[in-house]
Amino acid sequence: MQMVEGQLRRRGIHDERVLEAMATIPREKFVPDLIRASSYADEPLSIGHGQTISQPYITALMAELLELTGGEKVLEVGTGCGYHAVVLAMLAREVITVEIVGELAATARRNLAAAGICNVTVITGDGSVGYPPEAPYDAISVAAAAPAAPPSLVRQLADGGRLVIPVGSLDAQELRVISRSGGQLTTRAASACRFVPLRGGEGWALN
Ligand code: SAH
Repeated sequence: MQMVEGQLRRRGIHDERVLEAMATIPREKFVPDLIRASSYADEPLSIGHGQTISQPYITALMAELLELTGGEKVLEVGTGCGYHAVVLAMLAREVITVEIVGELAATARRNLAAAGICNVTVITGDGSVGYPPEAPYDAISVAAAAPAAPPSLVRQLADGGRLVIPVGSLDAQELRVISRSGGQLTTRAASACRFVPLRGGEGWALN
């Protein structure tokens, strides 16, 4: 509750469903054992493989920007340990989440099963190209930074849907909300941010 009040509500998160989801989900179950004591810290945490679990405020902000009401099919790109996927799963009908690091995908599947979450499917693969078999998606949440919004993700966004993605350089990005309405796309910038890079075919070409 201290995290919800001090880090989220105080900084302007006001979607009560998001606040309730984050008050309910045991974040410590998605954080590696060694750093469990820091589960509710106001910062990103290392989950190995050079990757992180996002700062709670960023997870809350991204979830709020998607404006989920409960019936949506959501695509997440960058599962990590699965925490953000569970937040989305509590706010929507179904979550498909794609992770490029096989070991992280396996950890996320274990964490989700242990938490008894049934409406999240973890796919191992390159999510920069989305996941065509389940498209279109009412909402898409990208947890890694891209040089530009991947065309495949924009294509897989349903009419009336929203894509939230950090776009910019490797060092600094802005969190963008891209909305599709009647064939029209609109983009707005919501916040400055810093994420790990999105790899893969429509991300950064990194080793
Ligand atoms: N959603 C997590 C944050 C994960 S960090 C949370 O709960 O806070 C971002 C993740 O994106 C990393 O695990 C990284 O391996 C993954 N990633 C990077 N590029 C990717 C790609 N092209 N497809 C899928 N996952 C990718």
